[in-house]
Amino acid sequence: MFVAANWKMNLDKKSILEFTKSLHKFKFSNQINTCIFPPMTYIDYLHNLINNLPISVGGQNCHYKSSGAFTGEVSANFLKDTGCEYVLVGHSERRIMNYENNDEIKSRAQTAINSNLKVILCVGEKLTDREEGKALEYIEKQINDCLPNNFKDLFIAYEPIWSIGTGKIPSAFEIQEMHSHIKKIVFRISNKYINVLYGGSVNTENIKEILKITNVDGVLVGGASLKAKDFLAIYSAAVKHLDTSS
Ligand code: PEP
Repeated sequence: MFVAANWKMNLDKKSILEFTKSLHKFKFSNQINTCIFPPMTYIDYLHNLINNLPISVGGQNCHYKSSGAFTGEVSANFLKDTGCEYVLVGHSERRIMNYENNDEIKSRAQTAINSNLKVILCVGEKLTDREEGKALEYIEKQINDCLPNNFKDLFIAYEPIWSIGTGKIPSAFEIQEMHSHIKKIVFRISNKYINVLYGGSVNTENIKEILKITNVDGVLVGGASLKAKDFLAIYSAAVKHLDTSS
């Protein structure tokens, strides 16, 4: 079970310090993998603050080259070097606002893997694809195009674009259907079983129901991960889910 927190371009040094004070008072479970993705500039700061806790730190993106003349970019090697264990690749905000295409995303994932980072590859359809009944087809193409050739520690986050930050989430059937579709596609391509996280408007209210859905192996949380209280409530719901389902 995975609980990942994507802070995006939020939380400064002062608020990160406050956040981590709550983490230090909390009793974590060894059944849950958890990773926080802070802004790039605070990776080292956060990593040092939570070094003794069972929480990993990750980068929100990495470049597809390991070094070179790429002003303003961050290399997977640097993320690894600064304490990251994970990296998000192909987030829809990067695809839309930074025009990252599938080819590039595949290269970013491959570069991250070569730097021994664990990758969370994000995929998700637009509302029109969903409404036109093309969501499964759209995700299949994204995975075919973006899945790196050799991988060991790779997760897929299914994040419908229309669900991110909107409060709207797909039905339990749609999530289950898509997660099972993703697992089948990845198995067909790579002969590997993959864990699939759901992302998109996950919060303290809906987490319990989302975790009950078949083939949901965890969650990627944006907005609701910005307050320690909510993040820890989501984490606790995941622990409770495992306790009741075992
Ligand atoms: C995200 O952007 O990865 C995300 C899941 O955002 P939110 O939870 O705010 O919808």
